[in-house]
Amino acid sequence: METIAPLREVIDEIKENGGDAVKFCYQCGKCDTICPWNRVRTFSMRKLIREATFGLTEIEREEIWRCTTCGKCPPKCPRDVKQIENMVALRRIATGYGIFPGAATPIRTVSAGLTAEGNPFGEERSKRADWAEGLSVKTFAEGMEILYFPGCYLSYDPRLKKVAAATAKILNKAGIDFGILGTKENCCGESIRKTGNEALFKRLARENIKTFIENGVKKILVSSPHCYHTFKNEYPEFKVNFEVVHISQFLFELINEGRLQLTKEYRKKVTYHDPCYLGRHNGIYDEPRGVLKKIPGLELNEMAESREDSLCCGGGGGRIWVETPRSERFSNLRLEQAIEVGAEELVTSCPYCITNFEDSKLILNYDDAIQVRDITEILQEVI
Ligand code: SF4
Repeated sequence: METIAPLREVIDEIKENGGDAVKFCYQCGKCDTICPWNRVRTFSMRKLIREATFGLTEIEREEIWRCTTCGKCPPKCPRDVKQIENMVALRRIATGYGIFPGAATPIRTVSAGLTAEGNPFGEERSKRADWAEGLSVKTFAEGMEILYFPGCYLSYDPRLKKVAAATAKILNKAGIDFGILGTKENCCGESIRKTGNEALFKRLARENIKTFIENGVKKILVSSPHCYHTFKNEYPEFKVNFEVVHISQFLFELINEGRLQLTKEYRKKVTYHDPCYLGRHNGIYDEPRGVLKKIPGLELNEMAESREDSLCCGGGGGRIWVETPRSERFSNLRLEQAIEVGAEELVTSCPYCITNFEDSKLILNYDDAIQVRDITEILQEVI
């Protein structure tokens, strides 16, 4: 196994991005105890931090691509070692040396698609707004109340297009003055940044920011917690600040203000999965639950690992594009947890979570046992 970069360079880069705390890692292993990987195979963040810092052994090629950036270990670390920033820095160095190990190879294709067409699938940019055909969705114009930014998965993925359609129907029903950017919309860039491709992230972000400014965008409604996170917490690095709202927050607001009436019953037992980038990274736990609790007839049962303790679906940090062996998918465990609390439906509010849960449903042959739904898909049935 070859060394990725001269040790000095790795340490300097990590210090720059993760801060000096990295050198004070106690090697206590608390991060490993909480890491979801250790539910399905062995993985040691502690070991990676040690190797990255002191170079006692060579940095393993595959292991640096494993972190899903779920955010579970940083709050438990007694030394404030910024594990996510350090893993992203390692990936940036690795990709800088042209190293895309084994399972992470698809990221090259994803980068090519993002560069050429502004989406990870390499689908034609001209088809980005096709999902909205026949749904009375306008093109965004200055002065409108809100820009709806569906993101790549809801624009192109056949399963997730249903979520975009449900969202548009709800917004229309509530009389919201909204529009979309259509072919002018780019991937937000959140996940490609986490794979270490900083240059591509910056390019996507700058293009989006330019489009937002040129079109007079002030308030952005998003469906993906990944878009939410990067618009709210990372785009301000470019000296801009847009008002960003996640659909779960917006729906809660619309219901509370009486702009959306829930007129039908939904007699099902459901459980709610907190996406990492909505919950742990941004503290949005109550609004999606608030929406579900307002639906007449719906019974909400919590899984043991919920809110701050939510189990990652496995899709963050660019892992949505990496092939994970079937036996190592966290999403399989999550489906089992949902069934254990008697849920007929596992509800969430993130395109990566839905993609992974739908895959697990197929793998586990759980078609009759449980359904996977976005919160908007339920809401559109009761208004
Ligand atoms: Fe090091 Fe923090 Fe992990 Fe402990 S929890 S091993 S201090 S990174």
